[in-house]
Amino acid sequence: MKVLLLPALKDNYMYLLIDEDTKECACVDPVEPEKVLSAVKKEGVKLTTVITTHHHLDHAGGNKELVEMARDLKLTVLGGDDRIDSLTRKVAHNDEFKVGKLNVRCLFTPCHTTGHICYFVTGDKGEDPAVFTGDTLFVAGCGRFFEGTPDQMKKALIDTLANLPAQTKVYCGHEYSIQNLKFALHVEPTNQDTLKKMAWAQAQRNKDQPTIPSTIEEEMKYNPFMRVKQAGVLDFTGTSDPVKTMGFLRSAKDNFKG
Ligand SMILES: [Zn+2]
Repeated sequence: MKVLLLPALKDNYMYLLIDEDTKECACVDPVEPEKVLSAVKKEGVKLTTVITTHHHLDHAGGNKELVEMARDLKLTVLGGDDRIDSLTRKVAHNDEFKVGKLNVRCLFTPCHTTGHICYFVTGDKGEDPAVFTGDTLFVAGCGRFFEGTPDQMKKALIDTLANLPAQTKVYCGHEYSIQNLKFALHVEPTNQDTLKKMAWAQAQRNKDQPTIPSTIEEEMKYNPFMRVKQAGVLDFTGTSDPVKTMGFLRSAKDNFKG
């Protein structure tokens, strides 16, 4: 599998997910359709599918225009929320579909929005899987709880995403890594993995390069929201309850001025 990262708007990421065997591809959250279609053309691949993580306009706002611009492709538009524009197939937890020979499994992760879905992709044996996490899991952070509870985010991050294979590559919806790492260091000032990731992320951004992807294994080392069972984070939140810790961290981050 090949994943092509396409920056969009101010700090969003769209993606092309390409099956290199069949040359079929899907796009993830194509908010800037023209950019997506020119990448499809340049790669010489066949776009079949639109994958939508959630209904917010900076993710789903290009669906309608893309479907119209690429009318002859008869695109399948997938998502987990009726508020998503041009939806042709509503998906639920553990639903699966193919992009060429790649297998995609839907992971229901409500909290940022009630219909948020993450998409877990597996290819050939021996190849690292990938997960598109939209605004649920970011590098070193997570999305705001607009339509959900700390319990739901704990389920999404800890019970669902943390249980994916450690080497799974994480492709998230925004370039928020530096801000998130600042907060992660506020929570765990001496975490060496966080310090290292920050130095790396700053070097990447100084070169105008993305900090995506990370891996599930890496996120477990520095992302406070993935570490709600770790001593360093519990010291900060002053509770040993992972759900309360999740809620505490989120409000602390929402009020964090960095
Ligand atoms: Zn969002």
